[in-house]
Amino acid sequence: MAQALKEVRKLKDLQTLVSLSKRRGFVFQSSEIYGGLNSCWDYGPLGSLMKLNVKRIWWQAMTRRADICGLDASILMHPTVWKASGHVDGFSDPLVDCKDCKTRFRTDNTESYINEKKCPQCGSKNLSEPRQFNLMFKTHMGPVEDEGSVVYMRPETAQGHYVNFSNCQTTTRYKIPFGIAAIGKSFRNEITPGNFIFRTREFEQMEMQYFVKPGEDESWFEKWKQTRMQFYKKYGFNMQNLREHPHAANELAHYAKAAIDVEYLFPMGWSELEGIHNRSNYDLTQHAKFSGKSLEYFEEATKEKFIPFVIETAVGCDRLFLAFLCDAYREEVYVDESGAEDIRVVLGLHPEVAPVKVAILPLVKKDPVASLAQKLREELAEDWDVQYDEAGSIGKRYRRQDEIGTPFCVTVDYESIEDGAVTIRNRDTMMQERVPLDQLKNNLLLKIKNFS
Ligand code: ATP
Repeated sequence: MAQALKEVRKLKDLQTLVSLSKRRGFVFQSSEIYGGLNSCWDYGPLGSLMKLNVKRIWWQAMTRRADICGLDASILMHPTVWKASGHVDGFSDPLVDCKDCKTRFRTDNTESYINEKKCPQCGSKNLSEPRQFNLMFKTHMGPVEDEGSVVYMRPETAQGHYVNFSNCQTTTRYKIPFGIAAIGKSFRNEITPGNFIFRTREFEQMEMQYFVKPGEDESWFEKWKQTRMQFYKKYGFNMQNLREHPHAANELAHYAKAAIDVEYLFPMGWSELEGIHNRSNYDLTQHAKFSGKSLEYFEEATKEKFIPFVIETAVGCDRLFLAFLCDAYREEVYVDESGAEDIRVVLGLHPEVAPVKVAILPLVKKDPVASLAQKLREELAEDWDVQYDEAGSIGKRYRRQDEIGTPFCVTVDYESIEDGAVTIRNRDTMMQERVPLDQLKNNLLLKIKNFS
């Protein structure tokens, strides 16, 4: 029966994504068979592919520029790094305990506390005094667990960039302005983790520190804001779901000269996705002071010496992953003549981000169709992550691929054996086109490249 599109629904709550993620293998609760570990998540067969894609597009956007190099620094660093950076003394959130229901919460982002000094859970006013709670995870290096062996799990990757500033500059021979990009795990003992993978205690950051001459920092700050917004546009974000939230003077970190949050409209409301900061020369000055090593830069052209200013762009990989899923999710509601509804769930992910680029779907399970389809699978897998699916009706198989965001399905049928052609089906338009086998790779390549 003919169907007509009635409406397109957007994502209404995070729970829908949590269920889809578990059902289809994007994200699982960590240690699930033991009851799970709060706020820790595992990326499954599709999630791990997609997370790699998220990292790759960010990494390429940064390091394929002629003025940015990459770095992969270690998680454990010399403990003095965290004294110099201010984290030992100042990386804390104000924490309050409710004496009635035992809920622990942050006072600085809890509305019921800010407005009425009430517990967000039970409304009680029987609360402890606020105390500062340091968010760094501590551990010990070596066999002796004493004060002298304390090391921290890094709460941000940025300090790796600063302590390697001279190493990177001298080995690349880059002149200022230039940047260092890194992707890696960070750890924060968050008081109130939650909202799925939005706020966790172990997460991955993608941070870039751009070193500039003092006086040029403000214009570079503006340029980086634009560059980062272009990135989101390029990868298909609905730009109405993104906005800049500039920090007011009282919101700025002590070292920052200016800062904005790039906020995304998550189902729970506008929340920080990325931070872009003008960190002044605070970090390099501190590390020069604590290490006793000069971190000055000598500019040949002007014969000037200075400590560079830093513009930082910092985005959580997990948060960006979540934003991609939220933005891509849609439910297309179709009705037939009898009024019966049929819902097509689609993840409209950009092909560069989608975990599977191409699905190979033979229309019959038998040879010679199946062996041709298998051969195609192997050929396409040289370039992309592909999936082979021969189970169920073709309609059901298309729907399975739509729900995981596969942009293209290739069907192989009996005719393919005779005419040497296959059908490409487009996820978004559902249009089909017949393509000769010898043009398939090129055709898909162009479609991925020119996707908009
Ligand atoms: P928030 O205000 O949400 O605690 P922040 O301002 O402390 O974040 P930054 O220190 O600027 O965050 O970190 C840069 C980016 O790292 C954030 O924009 C976010 O995408 C990500 N991030 C920070 N903390 C977490 C976390 N606990 N879980 C997941 N991602 C995080």
